[in-house]
Amino acid sequence: METKVLNNYKKAATVWKSAINMAEKKAKEGVLLLELAEQVEKLIVEEGAACAFPINLSLNEEAAHFTPKWNDTTVLKKTDLLKIDIGVHVEGYICDGAVSVNLDNAHAKQIEANELALANAISVAEFGKPVERMGAEIERTLKEKGFNPVYNLGGHGLGEYDIHSSPSIPNHARGSSQNLEEGAIAIEPFASTGRGNVMESQQVEIFSIEKKFGVRNPFARKLIELAGDFGELPFAERWLRKKTAAAKIEDYQVTVGLKELMKAGCFHTYPGLRESARSTVTQVEKSLIVLEEKTIVLGE
Ligand code: MN
Ligand code: MN
Repeated sequence: METKVLNNYKKAATVWKSAINMAEKKAKEGVLLLELAEQVEKLIVEEGAACAFPINLSLNEEAAHFTPKWNDTTVLKKTDLLKIDIGVHVEGYICDGAVSVNLDNAHAKQIEANELALANAISVAEFGKPVERMGAEIERTLKEKGFNPVYNLGGHGLGEYDIHSSPSIPNHARGSSQNLEEGAIAIEPFASTGRGNVMESQQVEIFSIEKKFGVRNPFARKLIELAGDFGELPFAERWLRKKTAAAKIEDYQVTVGLKELMKAGCFHTYPGLRESARSTVTQVEKSLIVLEEKTIVLGE
């Protein structure tokens, strides 16, 4: 790996670390999730990096892809199981990592089991070795502790300006026939008290641009133009609403425009992913640089 590329990863990891530290510190009872999200995202930019995706704040049975709505009023409860997933990039080189937080410690065992699963997976993340070994470690560890891995979510490679590149790293045994090559990867086990199967919810807060043509509605066209600043990386509706407010576009016009863009396939959607009701899900995630001579864990 080129030194310049490696240094960008390391810089992204340093900023990721301060962002995750800030998020954990702010994740106190009664905090407005919207405020937490905006403060952390602001810090990432102030420290000279950029968000690779909107901060994900998923609660309880929610596993991923939830980020506060533009007018969100959700506050963190003592009993909540919160997943904080942050992606930071420097010139397109991404550090992607997550922690789980639970203020009343009722889910401490689940978080611990998940952390152990991640550590065990990291211990077998070596150049030239089967990707499958990581999934096998994750599944074995979680099951021994009485949880299920979320079978339909997994880790992934990290490409330049590409959050989900090859290889895909299933959170279970017998899910991959690839061997690890040189490059960046993210390992992200999820522990569930349910079946270990997440489904798409109706809620969509995160989008990316798929194509820039095919709609006539003038507000929809304006939204494409404004979202152009986000490039090809995912963005939050609340980020777009900041731009539309500055451009004096009415809230209802944004709502109508967004619907058009989804229908026309101009905006790709990342629906919130949920386990079944009354299950709880934890997530922990680390990014790694796999080199022939060694593996570097980012953001430690
Ligand atoms: Mn992540
Ligand atoms: Mn990830």
